[in-house]
Amino acid sequence: MTEPAVHVLRGLLREGYASHRAAHAFLELTYRCNLDCAHCYCIHDQAGEELSTVEWCRVMGDLAAMGVLYLSFTGGEVFVRRDFLDLAAEARRLRFAWSLLTNAAAIDEGRADRLAALRPCAVAVSLYGATEATYRAVTGRPGGLERARRGVGLLVERGLRVHLRAPVTRRNAHELEAMIAMAAGWGLGLDHDPDMTAADDGGRGPLAEALDGEALAAYLARYRGGAPAPVRAGASHVCGAGQVLLAISPFGDLLPCVAFKRPVGNLRRTSLAELWAGSPFLAELRSLRVRDLEGGGAWHCPGAAWAETGDPTRQRDYARRRSALAGAAAAASALTR
Ligand code: SF4
Repeated sequence: MTEPAVHVLRGLLREGYASHRAAHAFLELTYRCNLDCAHCYCIHDQAGEELSTVEWCRVMGDLAAMGVLYLSFTGGEVFVRRDFLDLAAEARRLRFAWSLLTNAAAIDEGRADRLAALRPCAVAVSLYGATEATYRAVTGRPGGLERARRGVGLLVERGLRVHLRAPVTRRNAHELEAMIAMAAGWGLGLDHDPDMTAADDGGRGPLAEALDGEALAAYLARYRGGAPAPVRAGASHVCGAGQVLLAISPFGDLLPCVAFKRPVGNLRRTSLAELWAGSPFLAELRSLRVRDLEGGGAWHCPGAAWAETGDPTRQRDYARRRSALAGAAAAASALTR
């Protein structure tokens, strides 16, 4: 997306808070994946019938009619769906700005060529390590690093805008510098994040992959410079979930956000416009303000809080730990002044 287009989208997002006009939709095409990451919040083998190609095309038409401008295709792994590139072509035909998230393992010459022709705004690629051993430890599959390197290389060769991101877990934190160097080899930066969230069904497995206290403190000191806890105005909206953005599950459930898996309703039974305008749950979510949040709202994600605690206003363990570490860093810096 060009800089002026980004400004226009930001303006629309700001305006959308007042009018509850959705501008950005995440399309979760499938929860199936070709990897099996220990930290992943997705439940890969859910029962249910995924939306067909025709149904997804109808959903995209409804999103266009509602004024949504930007689509993010995500999963699971989008390339597990054989029709992914056909769906991307439909997004292009409907004149959406769009992007995708992939682990790049399934990107070959042909797919890279087709993607380049469809001109996504960005291709976000998740990286999991800098050696095959670590890749396997994180993703549960052999050969992952080689496939990811090849996939990213093909995307970069075609001039696509690639955003590399890495979850920082107890299995790969020791290779973060090597991952940053690998990204630099393609001329790219690496976004990295140690925040793990509970599984979509509330399971705590992904949380067990998070850095422990000492490792998190070391990570924050090195990469975040002991940044203080962000201060958020009490009367502000908490985030864009259900306000200016929405997500749609592989089974047609409308969700407030890709990270907030409480269904608003199902698009096979009720129209998108009706659910978006008439849902009591969305009305309640839209009335939430930062002052309602336990812990003051620093590092708060209501979706992750709901998955972890059953309550979107409760403070998650990660937010609590980061706030404590930021407080300790501030106290230490005051003492040395
Ligand atoms: S804070 Fe969480 S629920 Fe809100 S928009 Fe971000 S990821 Fe979604």
